[in-house]
Amino acid sequence: MADSDTPKAEERGSKNFIEQIIEEDLRSGKYDGRILTRFPPEPNGYLHIGHAKAIVLNFEIAKKYGGKTNLRFDDTNPLTEDPKYIQAIKEDIRWLGYDWEDREYYASDYFPILYEYALKLIKKGKAYVDHSSQEEINRMRGTPDKPGEESPYRNRSVEENLALFEQMRSGAFKEGECVLRAKIDMRSPNMHMRDPVMYRIIHHPHHRTGTKWCIYPTYDFAHGQSDSIERITHSLCTLEFEHHRPLYNWFIRELEIFPSRQIEFARLNLNYTVMSKRLLLRLVNEGHVTGWDDPRLPTLRGMRRRGYTPEAIKSFIHKVGIAKRDNIIDISLLEHEVREDLDRRALRRMVVFDPIEVEIVNYEEGKSEELPAANHPKDESLGTRLLPFSKFLYIDREDFMIDPPKGYHRLRPDGYVRLKHAYIIRCVDYEINEQTGKVRKIYAEYIPESKSGQDRSGIKTKGVIHWVDAPSSVEVELRLYDRLFSVEDPLADKSHDFTEFLNPDSLRVIPNARAELSLKDVEPETHFQFLRKGFFVADPDSDKGKPVFNRTVELRDSWAKKRGGK
Ligand code: ATP
Ligand code: MG
Repeated sequence: MADSDTPKAEERGSKNFIEQIIEEDLRSGKYDGRILTRFPPEPNGYLHIGHAKAIVLNFEIAKKYGGKTNLRFDDTNPLTEDPKYIQAIKEDIRWLGYDWEDREYYASDYFPILYEYALKLIKKGKAYVDHSSQEEINRMRGTPDKPGEESPYRNRSVEENLALFEQMRSGAFKEGECVLRAKIDMRSPNMHMRDPVMYRIIHHPHHRTGTKWCIYPTYDFAHGQSDSIERITHSLCTLEFEHHRPLYNWFIRELEIFPSRQIEFARLNLNYTVMSKRLLLRLVNEGHVTGWDDPRLPTLRGMRRRGYTPEAIKSFIHKVGIAKRDNIIDISLLEHEVREDLDRRALRRMVVFDPIEVEIVNYEEGKSEELPAANHPKDESLGTRLLPFSKFLYIDREDFMIDPPKGYHRLRPDGYVRLKHAYIIRCVDYEINEQTGKVRKIYAEYIPESKSGQDRSGIKTKGVIHWVDAPSSVEVELRLYDRLFSVEDPLADKSHDFTEFLNPDSLRVIPNARAELSLKDVEPETHFQFLRKGFFVADPDSDKGKPVFNRTVELRDSWAKKRGGK
């Protein structure tokens, strides 16, 4: 495997660039040896696997250097945020296995300090109230290669600005009537330095501060200052904020506050999906998926319901590593980690997806026996269960062929096959359903001396198939999930809406598969491998009566073939 030829940075003992920076800061005693990072979600949606990357990075790097990590809700926009997301975000971070202890903060708690900061800048002549409309402000900002123009309100006196800002705060103005802007440089080559907006008026109650405020700090004015208030040492954020850094540093300098150091890293992007909360929200609202926890979504809730484990997700994130340049990661890498993890822990079970009845002609009617079967081929600690076996069984339709091609090792007329954990059987006859032309029933004899583990029959079989005992079997629903989109980048083709690239086969339901008796009462979130079929997880819907299983991942990467074998 390529992995073993090119060991990852950690295995070689070298450090990623963020660790190098932190170690340098520790050596130089920059923050008195203190390390404090933060994860700053905006409570306007559920977390996705991209967020998981930021969570893993922030929590693990702090831990590695004896530091801590804050959880801070970046709740500065009352129009899009909702307390239900706060609860869900906390649950998801805990599910991943991280703990922020008592360090749960809210940017909205800093509104009073941020307001003081704004006053300080006004008093220094570094901020002004602008009555230009949003369109005028946009127009006057210019373009990257055309300098901006100064606003006619830019040179208001400090007294006038103080009075106007106070009026903004007290609700004297309507939304959009004016904003507070930093007074920096309208000719700066960096657009973010062209007098960015610091405060805007929003007459909408906030989920934490109610109607106390009608002016809200912009992300750019709140984020860096929140880091500074919490005395975050290393503020890790995604690359798109690189060009904001000079602005954050300008605020820190002008306000003379704690200088948190911002370091940018590449976002995690995956193919065959979309990650932005805005697009995920559309998929949910337009009914393309059943909700935020739909097992096809890259949300942590979706992945959890799909059967992905925190261990697999974290292992994937470690394998991907930390980069300084954006790239797109193949989702099969994530699926590979999921498979590796589930192979270790999933209980083995037998489920027949498309049942054909088999009658064992030489087995006594009414008799039944119990055959022991290991729950895991390698891990004895996972125990065994007993499989009922009797005269009537089910096998999968695809495991019987009347006229099979060469190399087919399953059941055929007059042929032998082994039933996993049970006996060898030989097909002696079959019936065809005249209407459908399909096989309706198979007659077989079993070889009593061929019992698994004590086979004295001397019969060599090439194939081993799964089966279930018919009378004791349980009807279950299977949800076979596949990738949500049928193209690698659903956003690449701008002439089509991304929803046009949804994979029409991303969910196939089998309402009436037959499962072995031990799957009758399942605990949601238990992981299974259905022999020869794939990894599955019990869905919470199982609590409604009939067991429901979601396919987490196939046993092999079937998409590699579709892509032309990678
Ligand atoms: P989205 O664009 O998906 O809506 P966001 O960046 O607006 O996400 P936030 O709640 O602001 O969502 O993100 C919280 C943190 O998670 C930020 O520090 C952000 O940089 C990080 N983050 C978001 N998406 C990714 C990603 N794909 N890869 C790595 N980190 C991410
Ligand atoms: Mg954001």
